[in-house]
Amino acid sequence: MSFEQLPLISPLLKALKEEGYETPTPIQVEAIPVVLKQKDLLACAQTGTGKTAAFSLPILQLLDQVQPKKRGIRTLILTPTRELAIQIGESLSAYGNYLSIKHTVIFGGVSQLNQTKALKSGMDILVATPGRLLDLMQQGFVKLDHIEIFVLDEADRMLDMGFIHDVKKIIGKLPTKKQTLLFSATMPPEIQQLAKTLLHQPSIVAVTPPSSTVEKISQYLYYTNKSDKVKLLDHLLDEEDIGQALVFSRTKHGADRVVRILDKKGHKAKAIHGNKSQNARQNALKDFKDGKIKVLVATDIAARGIDIDELEMVINFDLPEIPETYVHRIGRTGRAGLSGKAISFCDGEQHKLLKDIEKLIGLRIEVVHEHPYPFEAQKSEESPSREKKKQPTRNKRYR
Ligand code: AMP
Repeated sequence: MSFEQLPLISPLLKALKEEGYETPTPIQVEAIPVVLKQKDLLACAQTGTGKTAAFSLPILQLLDQVQPKKRGIRTLILTPTRELAIQIGESLSAYGNYLSIKHTVIFGGVSQLNQTKALKSGMDILVATPGRLLDLMQQGFVKLDHIEIFVLDEADRMLDMGFIHDVKKIIGKLPTKKQTLLFSATMPPEIQQLAKTLLHQPSIVAVTPPSSTVEKISQYLYYTNKSDKVKLLDHLLDEEDIGQALVFSRTKHGADRVVRILDKKGHKAKAIHGNKSQNARQNALKDFKDGKIKVLVATDIAARGIDIDELEMVINFDLPEIPETYVHRIGRTGRAGLSGKAISFCDGEQHKLLKDIEKLIGLRIEVVHEHPYPFEAQKSEESPSREKKKQPTRNKRYR
C-alpha cells in the first residue's frame, strides 16, 4: 500500500516525500481511507505508530476539498499535553506545506496574548489542550459552532491526567453534526463509554499487538482451492472438536455466504460486518459470547472493537491483504496467557499474501497436508511442499 493508493492528493504527497516518508504505517493504512470517507473513527494506537499523520493528512485533504463561504474554526484537535500540541502543529505545518489550510496551537503554562492574537486572525484548524481552550472559550476568544471535524487525541491519557471533565465540557459546546475521530492507546471502560456517546457508527481500527502474542499461538495452514474453502471449514468444525471459532472473511458478501452455508450444514453461525446494523452486530456478538452460536464470521473492520475473552480459535477463511492484520486477528486468541489456535486457508491466489505474513512474523506457518480438500490447480507452482521449521530472523516492525 502506498500513500497514492490511500488516496492522498498531490500537494500532500509532495510534502510527504520531502519529509522522507515512503510508505504509510499500519495505522495510516487503516485510518486514512476511513477519515477520507468522512466516517467516525475509533483508533487504538499509541504514540510512535504514526497516528498524528493518520488523522492530520486526511483532515488537511478534506478541508482543502471544500472551502466554506463563512470562515470559522472547522477542525478541533484536542490533545492532553503541550508537547503533543506542539508536535501536532509541526506535523500540520509540514504536511500542509503545499495547501492553504491555516492552523493555530494553544496550550497552558504560557501567556495567552500571542494565542488570542492568533485566534483573532482566523484559522481552519485549532490544536489545543483542554484547560487553556476552556479558559479562552469562557473569555469569548474561541467559538466552536463551525466545527466539522473533532479529534480527541490520547483519550486515555486525558483520563489519567484528570482532564476528562474539561473534555466533556468542550464536547458539549461542539455542533452535534460533525465527524469525530477518537484516538487512545488503551480502551478503559470510561473511554469506551465516552466513545459510545461521542461516535456515530465508527470504524474501529487498531494496530498490531506485540509480537510475543504471536509466538504463543499454534498456527496452521491449509492449502485449498477457493471453491472448497467452505467445505473445508465445515469439515474442520465437524472433525476437529472446535468449540467456537471466530472466522475472518475478506468481504461482507463472503461473510454472509459462509454463514448461509454453515447454517445449512447445521453449524449455528452469524456474521458481523459494516452492512449490519449496530443492533444486529451486538446481538450476534452477544450470542457468540453466550455460547448460543458456534461461529462468528467477521470482516476485519467489524471485528476490531470486539473483545472476546478466552477465544480458543481464529480461522482465516481469507488471508488478509495487510500482513499486520494477520497478527491482529490471531492475537484475539491466546490472550491473558492462554494458548490459542489459528488456522489459515490459502488458495493459489493468496500465496504472495502468505509470504508477506511469514516475513512479518518471522515464522513459517506449519502446513497441514492431511485433509480432504487439498489445493489442486497449478499444484507445482502454487502449493510448494514446505518444511516445518522456524525462521531464525525476525522482521523489524513499525511500532
Ligand atoms: P506519531 O505516532 O504520530 O507520534 O509518529 C511517530 C513518528 O513517526 C513521527 O516522528 C513521525 O514523523 C514519523 N512518521 C509518521 N508516519 C511515518 C511514515 N509513514 N513514514 C516514516 N515516518 C513516519
